[in-house]
Amino acid sequence: MNYRHAFHAGNFADVFKHALLARMLIYLMRKDAPLHFIDTHAGIGLYDLAGAEAARTGEWRGGIARLAGVPDGPARDLLAPYLRAVGGLDGQGRPALYPGSPALAQALLRPQDRMSLCEMHPDDAQLLTQNMGRDRRAKVIEADGYAALNALVPPRERRGLVLIDPPFEADDEFARMQAALLRAQRKWREGVFALWYPVKDASAGEFARRLAASGLRRILRLQLRIGDGSGQGLQACGLIVLNPPFALEAEAALILPALAQAMGAGGGGFGVDWLAGE
Ligand code: SAM
Repeated sequence: MNYRHAFHAGNFADVFKHALLARMLIYLMRKDAPLHFIDTHAGIGLYDLAGAEAARTGEWRGGIARLAGVPDGPARDLLAPYLRAVGGLDGQGRPALYPGSPALAQALLRPQDRMSLCEMHPDDAQLLTQNMGRDRRAKVIEADGYAALNALVPPRERRGLVLIDPPFEADDEFARMQAALLRAQRKWREGVFALWYPVKDASAGEFARRLAASGLRRILRLQLRIGDGSGQGLQACGLIVLNPPFALEAEAALILPALAQAMGAGGGGFGVDWLAGE
């Protein structure tokens, strides 16, 4: 477990994932009934972009720092709750602290909602506990998120969202993700499951084909590309959402072109398509 999210916090992939996560949580909160947010790979929750790790890569400069460039209009309106949670940006486009998925959910969720935040790295689980403060809605679970997920579903609220956001250090990460998804959705048919993945080679497309052939219905695929593939480092990623909230397809069709424009260095692009319909 060498991966440390602090090196990548606030990069284009975080902005993509967190902007969409915010829209999904907001949609689920249209009903008063409580919801449960499960983060299988939570990280430390809050990131100092002026810290040594973020400074070493500077990835946030191509991510959150570019969002000032999204013009006023429907996309910016949809991004507003996410941007409010991020907080004000300094002259370099850097927030005081960048909220990872746990802190973003903490900012958005209501008193009646709950969060289960799984993090396997002991140091990161401890930092996550500190960063979440005395929030009675949040439970930090130091464990393998895939195993914990199986024990957490279905939550008693019966409504909610699972984010599966692993580090992709292991060769079999796609297979583990798929197995965890299939097992969890059998126990919680109405749950929303969002799976983040990097697009580096043919494996992302193969993963999509396997899910499309799995028999699951209502699978939406969202993708963002910030380069033409010739540059260094990760340039494209995706989020596959099982049982997406009704508004997500239309909202993504507004948000993703704006993100591609703001963060794409010439070769930006996006995709919104169904791997399986109703
Ligand atoms: N979801 C976070 C966010 O959006 O802010 C980022 C998570 S980061 C991509 C992946 C995290 O998973 C790392 O903090 C890593 O320590 C942790 N991790 C790795 N393997 C894990 C496992 N099997 N179960 C739970 N956490 C794991």
